[in-house]
Amino acid sequence: MLIKPTLFVISAPSGAGKSTLIRHIKPYFPDMLYSISCATRPPRKGEIDSVSYYFISESKFKSMSRAGEFLEWKNVHGNMYGTPAKPVLEALKSGQRMIMDIDVEGAKEVFCKVPQAVGIFINAPSLSILEKRLRDRKADSVDSIRIRMLNAHHEISMAHMFKYNMVNDQLKTAIKELVEIIRKESETESGQD
Ligand code: ADP
Ligand code: 5GP
Repeated sequence: MLIKPTLFVISAPSGAGKSTLIRHIKPYFPDMLYSISCATRPPRKGEIDSVSYYFISESKFKSMSRAGEFLEWKNVHGNMYGTPAKPVLEALKSGQRMIMDIDVEGAKEVFCKVPQAVGIFINAPSLSILEKRLRDRKADSVDSIRIRMLNAHHEISMAHMFKYNMVNDQLKTAIKELVEIIRKESETESGQD
């Protein structure tokens, strides 16, 4: 079995479950790299600096942006998030597969810069379930949840840009679906397709 260098771009409305899914698929793909974004928001409980994100100040973010260090960056839900370019370009050059979790506007930019990237959009079964997941996560303020729910409408309207659309209803089923997509897009028996 051969691995094709593939960049997977995962987007979803906040709370749909992309971090949960990415965490669960990791054991299936021990070789796959994860693009660690820079973020100016404070870490949530359980998030580890340089693992979940590089948590950096706004001034550091701006200087990195000015230095052209981001493949893309966006203001999402009132905070700055950016994808460091170097690890992505190195992963593709060295024939590895990589997964990134970014917002839909960032994804649009990545699809222009890396046309072979495979987009996967993850949705919750409904807006009310999405809101319940955000509330139950207990990670965001009431205001932040309100902004995330308002932004969800725009994010869902951009789902058509992604090659795959999936619904994270039963976690086990969604994990299986995501694993199958990644295998289909990046693993070949002969290296010919
Ligand atoms: P995102 O990374 O998309 O913002 P998370 O992965 O943090 O979302 O998931 C949001 C919340 O929903 C978390 O509390 C998580 O445990 C929960 N969750 C994720 N997937 C499911 C699912 N299939 N069924 C029920 N709850 C889920
Ligand atoms: P959260 O604060 O919930 O971790 O993430 C908020 C949003 O920012 C999510 O939609 C997530 O996908 C997005 N995001 C995380 N990293 C990046 C990034 O590097 N670039 C862009 N454009 N969005 C990102």
